Amino acid sequence: MSRPVAMQCLRCGTRYAPQVARSGCAACTGKLASNLRVVYDPQEVPGWRFKNKHAMPPGMWRYGEMLPVPTDQAVTLGEGGTPLHLARRMGELLGLKRLYIKDESCNPTHSYKDRLSAVAVSHARAQGASVVATASSGNAGASLAAYAARAGLQCVVASMKGASGPMMAQIRKYGAHLVMMDDKSLRWPLLAEGAARHGWYVTSPHAAPVVGSTAVGIEGYKTIAYEIVGDLGSAPDWVVMPVCYGDALAGIAQGFEDLLCAGEIDKRPRLVAAEAHGSLVNAMAHQTDCVDAVDAEYATLAASVGANQSTYQALHWLRMSDGLAVQIGNEGLIDMQELVACREGLLYELASVMPFVAARQLARSGVMREDDTVVCLATASGLKDTDKSTGSWNPLPVVTVGREQIPELASATHNLLSQRGGSVR
Ligand SMILES: [Zn+2]
Repeated sequence: MSRPVAMQCLRCGTRYAPQVARSGCAACTGKLASNLRVVYDPQEVPGWRFKNKHAMPPGMWRYGEMLPVPTDQAVTLGEGGTPLHLARRMGELLGLKRLYIKDESCNPTHSYKDRLSAVAVSHARAQGASVVATASSGNAGASLAAYAARAGLQCVVASMKGASGPMMAQIRKYGAHLVMMDDKSLRWPLLAEGAARHGWYVTSPHAAPVVGSTAVGIEGYKTIAYEIVGDLGSAPDWVVMPVCYGDALAGIAQGFEDLLCAGEIDKRPRLVAAEAHGSLVNAMAHQTDCVDAVDAEYATLAASVGANQSTYQALHWLRMSDGLAVQIGNEGLIDMQELVACREGLLYELASVMPFVAARQLARSGVMREDDTVVCLATASGLKDTDKSTGSWNPLPVVTVGREQIPELASATHNLLSQRGGSVR
């Protein structure tokens, strides 16, 4: 590990003691609310080992020297070290020759949240916490539940009606206490109460206005940037990701910043936030320094990024990277999920295919050029929200035939393949 020397506000620069569990900067309040970031002693940040893809330990703790908890005290399930796939067939479709997919569904609970949970739960245990807690539409809760189980801690997940069934099942199977709330706006007061009265270590946002998740946990997302550069050997031109509160965006941006400062890359990749309701689109367009809530005009299928207000941390890093925010609606989302699955063999949740929709828009409009190196961050598995992505399907009719009718069934099946436009002989 590197020793954190302070927590620092992204907006005003105020510094706080590193061990203070704080949700945001006390000096930046109301509309100016801002998250903190971890500051390390520059004397202790060692040289980089990130280009050695085969270094030990495997996974994200290979970069433990850049994380705020000691590697030998890490609560780990083998997170990180996820594949970066060159997506030739999707690239052809989108008009991008160097389209890559960073496949975060390969994490232990099948989402990128494991990088945050591993660091946050390690920190919580080191701090002597006995209960960790989060508000979650699913992925963060499933992830925290797993790492709490691994660490022997209790876990509370506050979720809401309408959350995806498979994710709720995951949370319960890991033994967490799941509170399903009718009024989702009361999840944060519940967590704040638990933290204040009972010492819960809360990893998610739990106070309005929203600033993002625990800054210590966000450090885990830096390793996504390290791994991308480790695999490509240089910085990509673009990294496109689904964004809710921008925790991963902030962590990834900080990771690229570390590499830039260390002289390992020569530019910042431009970051693209694909969001459901457009609060960052709004803030970027109006050149304001505040991310106001916007009207959620529809119920997004991308439930993992369903909030109607993002954060200053996301806006800060979008601007720093000369990035963009793109609003992605429901139209075409399931089609894109199936395109990625059928063309690349990779099945992602609906929020995770928003980057492909955004990249298609940006490539068509000429903002992305065909030779640009573009990384789409696929944040979670498509098994996470099958109730939403297949909700309109009718059950397949069951085939009832005898053994003697099998040749006929084989021929009929083969003929159907030709009708689907595939190449069959
Ligand atoms: Zn501040």
